Amino acid sequence: MGELEAKVPDAGRRLSFASLGSGSKGNATLVSDGETRVLVDCGFPMRDAERRLNRLGLHPRQLDAILVTHEHGDHIRGVGALARRYRLPVYLTAGCWLSRRLGDVPDRRWILPQTRFAIRGLEIDPITVPHDAREPVQFRFRAHGRHLGVLTDLGHPTQHVVDAFRGCNALVLECNHDRQMLADGPYPFRLKRRVGGDWGHLANSQAAALLPQLGLDRLERIVCSHLSEQNNHPERVREILAPLLDGDETRLMLAAQDKGLSWQSIA
Ligand SMILES: [Zn+2]
Ligand SMILES: [Zn+2]
Repeated sequence: MGELEAKVPDAGRRLSFASLGSGSKGNATLVSDGETRVLVDCGFPMRDAERRLNRLGLHPRQLDAILVTHEHGDHIRGVGALARRYRLPVYLTAGCWLSRRLGDVPDRRWILPQTRFAIRGLEIDPITVPHDAREPVQFRFRAHGRHLGVLTDLGHPTQHVVDAFRGCNALVLECNHDRQMLADGPYPFRLKRRVGGDWGHLANSQAAALLPQLGLDRLERIVCSHLSEQNNHPERVREILAPLLDGDETRLMLAAQDKGLSWQSIA
């Protein structure tokens, strides 16, 4: 699976993104339009998040906000500490806040699902997804005429999700598990049922079925994310997604748990 190198973060006025890391041990995605920089989730403890940001050429002070998708630990572990230490506003749904899992967050801004908002020039559409959290959303970003979708923690693709993410130029997409590996793997039955169920996580086969509905011809970058270390393997993901891409596998990338993904600019 190809991983294009990042050069300079935020160089020029482009919609860009990077991953601090992705998987069940922690998720965080950076999005920048060259002026505004936001962190989508922070599932890493603060020190670890600082180190991962540094790897991508950023100091937390250079962030403008943290956006939270939902209250699961792999998305919020470092949110409160980072927000307090660096006085960052945190955008989240009321349901997510009412889960009481975030600790003290002094500067809260409410996300209304399906209601676009902007942080300076960066436009953000929060989109409701089926997942076993209080009021989960995922995000579609727009800047400089380009669109980026961040779509993980998706129990199953709904028509609403298809309509909301159609036509993106780049997509960070959950490829959580291989159904067979999940079935044969070590998880207890209840957890298998949760992960594989309609309010759990997206299987590779579901991601493969979803992609053509979102418009493959416009997708310059497809970043496979939130892979389960127990129930998936990058090679299994590549096997199932590569045939959709007419041999152009360079569009396919991986946001890994440890290494994340370097900066990607959407041309
Ligand atoms: Zn997650
Ligand atoms: Zn989750």
